[in-house]
Amino acid sequence: MPDHQDLQRRLLRRQLLWQGVVGAGALAAGPGLLSTLATGAPATGVGLGANRLVAAVAAPPIIPRAGWGADERLRRGSPDFAPINRVIVHHTVTATDEPDPAARVRAIHAFHVQGNGWSDIAYNFVVDQAGRIYEGRAASGGVPGENGEGQGVIGAHAAGHNTGSVGVAILGTFSDDRVTPSDAALDAVAAVAAWKLGTRDIDPLAPGAMIGHRDVVATGCPGNGCQNRLPELRERTRARIAPTVVAEDGDGLLGGLLDGLL
Ligand SMILES: [Zn+2]
Repeated sequence: MPDHQDLQRRLLRRQLLWQGVVGAGALAAGPGLLSTLATGAPATGVGLGANRLVAAVAAPPIIPRAGWGADERLRRGSPDFAPINRVIVHHTVTATDEPDPAARVRAIHAFHVQGNGWSDIAYNFVVDQAGRIYEGRAASGGVPGENGEGQGVIGAHAAGHNTGSVGVAILGTFSDDRVTPSDAALDAVAAVAAWKLGTRDIDPLAPGAMIGHRDVVATGCPGNGCQNRLPELRERTRARIAPTVVAEDGDGLLGGLLDGLL
């Protein structure tokens, strides 16, 4: 029979494994954090929701605006920001087998400003078929797409649904359901989504958290070939947020970390 303390330890461990998303970064805060969680006292310095630890998902490599040659003379006005609450996926309706993706991003930028009259490129991020991620609409903080308070820059990618949404566009045309984004492109979208949603304790599987443009606006975007893969894309995103929150006994990395702390 385990003694009382051991039972408590195992119950807490199980609770942490099941309760949701526990990030390695938060765990790195150490046993003090976990005992704080156990006693229900508020913790400082980490994102604690209702008895949940917010995942520490690292930002993926992102090609900054300077890296893809954004013409900053095109920008008008100053951007607006709002708390991030979802990801909306798009296709750009350009060549799927793009020979010069950066040039295409520059062309989209110019078209959105000079053709559509918008203040900047519509999308928050663009990804290409090789899985490269391009910073989209300019923000004001050091973190791509955010201001200093962690709010997301408001784009112009989904009429009526731009505030709070991260618009991620995949270079290509996926209207034909036989033409789908590459695995590398989907992984890139998942990496952006995991970073933006996971760090805000938003489950990509929650209704509305990760959707196609057509789910909120009357449009074919992001094409059948992309839309059909959204369920898989949500799963890929969640896997990046909580790779080990699956087993009750926690044989994975998380279980090992908890073993070391509890
Ligand atoms: Zn769209």
